[in-house]
Amino acid sequence: MSGRTVLNIIKGIYMKFNEHFNDIAQSYLFSNIAQKVAAYSAAHPDKTILRLGIGDVTLPLAPAVIEALHSAVDEMSKKETFRGYGPEQGYGFLKEAVKNYYASFGVTVGEDEIFISDGAKSDLGNILDLFDRDNLVLVPDPVYPVYVDTNVMAGRKIAYMNANASNGFLPMPDYSVDADIIYLCSPNNPTGAAYTVEQLQQWVNYANAKNAVILYDAAYECFISEDGPARSIFQTEGANTCAIEFCSLSKPASFTGTRCGYTVVPFDLKRQGMSANKMWLRRQTTKFNGVSYIVQRGAAAVFSPEGQKQIRANIAVYRDNAKIIADCMDELGIWYTGGKNSPYIWLKCPLGMSSWEFFDYLLENAQVVGTPGAGFGANGEGYFRLTAFGSREVTEQAVARIKRLLKK
Ligand SMILES: *Cc1c(COP(=O)(O)O)cnc(C)c1O
Repeated sequence: MSGRTVLNIIKGIYMKFNEHFNDIAQSYLFSNIAQKVAAYSAAHPDKTILRLGIGDVTLPLAPAVIEALHSAVDEMSKKETFRGYGPEQGYGFLKEAVKNYYASFGVTVGEDEIFISDGAKSDLGNILDLFDRDNLVLVPDPVYPVYVDTNVMAGRKIAYMNANASNGFLPMPDYSVDADIIYLCSPNNPTGAAYTVEQLQQWVNYANAKNAVILYDAAYECFISEDGPARSIFQTEGANTCAIEFCSLSKPASFTGTRCGYTVVPFDLKRQGMSANKMWLRRQTTKFNGVSYIVQRGAAAVFSPEGQKQIRANIAVYRDNAKIIADCMDELGIWYTGGKNSPYIWLKCPLGMSSWEFFDYLLENAQVVGTPGAGFGANGEGYFRLTAFGSREVTEQAVARIKRLLKK
């Protein structure tokens, strides 16, 4: 042992890992599901299993996107058009396209308030670099696990707000709670519930009153129908001083494997004389070297008139599937949220079953696989998530089986 090491051990100074990793709850949700399905399948090789648990898109990239990707690849092959490092916050052509997209539903964002990234999940995790560890984080239960785990990793304290049947899985602000960072996801994963502009206004008023910041996950914004709930938190008054919005091309344009998203950090979001926009720019230029030029060209094509027409046709397939599932619930008299402005249907398990009891019941009697709500938080117990990302055929067959099983 070197003298330095001995001295450090005596002083109690030695290399330490981040012990907060021990505090992250292990999630066995999807491995448990896979295990149960594999066991059932092995015991009943003659049965066809229908999956309505998929949380990933299944339709391919739109032709306009493919064309743009190909031509960007060609540009990279020639000395005259080759691109090396690009701007960390994204190319102007894509930021402008995103800006115009926001304008199409009446929201004004500055080009330099938009930051292009490799997806919403990375930004949702990375944004925490901007915040002190002592902030109190408010998270809905049930919830997309990323919000909780990224904060637990950093050692932050978390308070939960109850989403349940009595509030339609859309919790509203409680002024007796002094939250600093608030997560809202609308349309929600897993519940499919979506806030109206008026409801978001109440959250924005609360955040401004409490000096809190809302981290708004709009990953499923594209599923909202015309005259439906809010598409962006920036449709409210005052969000510019309290909200950051995360969006992604994953769900609307099948970019889950291609990777591109965007985050809006308003110039007016300031605390202690510090600007969130400037801090995020500094953070990104320090730790990130931007999204691939090729992918950004593909992403820009999503926002072209042709691209929009093509991705809208894909979204319509999922929306039709969601309606098929929702209609089935209506027919069976089962309570649910989502289905209308979301690819998710969040239903109350029939016959008083728990989430896992219903999972087993559906698998064994209808060979349909969904996701037990209990896996998304304590308030998810007794609920179940079905998704619209499968094919129409599979969705129709699954619904027919569910009806046969549950119709009195
Ligand atoms: C799918 C999803 C995202 C998108 O993540 P990407 O990293 O952009 O693929 C974000 N938030 C929620 C709640 C999601 O379900």
